[in-house]
Amino acid sequence: MSESTREERHNQRMKRTKEIVDKRIAASQEERGVFILLTGNGKGKSSSAFGMVARALGHGQKVAVVQFVKGRMETGEQNFFDQQENVDFHVMGDGFTWETQSREKDIASAQEAWATAKKILQDERYQLVIFDEMTYMFKYDYLDLDDVLEAIAHRPKMQNLVLTGRGAKPELKALADTVSVIMDEKHAFKAGVKAQKGIEW
Ligand code: ATP
Ligand code: MG
Repeated sequence: MSESTREERHNQRMKRTKEIVDKRIAASQEERGVFILLTGNGKGKSSSAFGMVARALGHGQKVAVVQFVKGRMETGEQNFFDQQENVDFHVMGDGFTWETQSREKDIASAQEAWATAKKILQDERYQLVIFDEMTYMFKYDYLDLDDVLEAIAHRPKMQNLVLTGRGAKPELKALADTVSVIMDEKHAFKAGVKAQKGIEW
């Protein structure tokens, strides 16, 4: 095939692709907030959520974060985003089950965090809401899934919500507008590399 034929075919293909994309853009005109679910066993769920926090702040939006698992005393995301005027950052008290060793205490912490989260879902000033590691609340039955699904479904029309955590329940997937399942193909941790500040927390 000559260079000019190749060039011509490439241009035709790109033109067809552009037509398809333009049609899709024209068809997607609904304006409303979306519910994004980031799940799966691979790395990148929480960091993607915080990437969207940075984007929203760059547009002057107001953001709320609720972290449902407190794994460490201090995280980079909390240190950084908590300082931002437009971010309200909440971390659930007590933390992991294997740290507190008390189901009763965990349930109390979960319900307290959910009370805060529920208010956020009724407050249209928040344009972006992050519920980080919330999936575990349903895995351990710390929170009632139907209650949470209902509050999510009735949140303000323009409010975007990002929920993260492994093993998301099918009901959450069904309600979400966007679902990304991040696959674990390889992780440095499994090769014995120690978790690092700035990368893992
Ligand atoms: P990140 O916060 O880095 O985006 P994540 O939210 O996708 O990660 P979680 O399931 O919340 O991942 O796990 C939190 C911690 O576990 C992070 O320190 C992350 O690097 C680590 N991690 C994530 N995926 C894996 C994996 N497949 N194997 C081992 N450790 C992992
Ligand atoms: Mg995470």
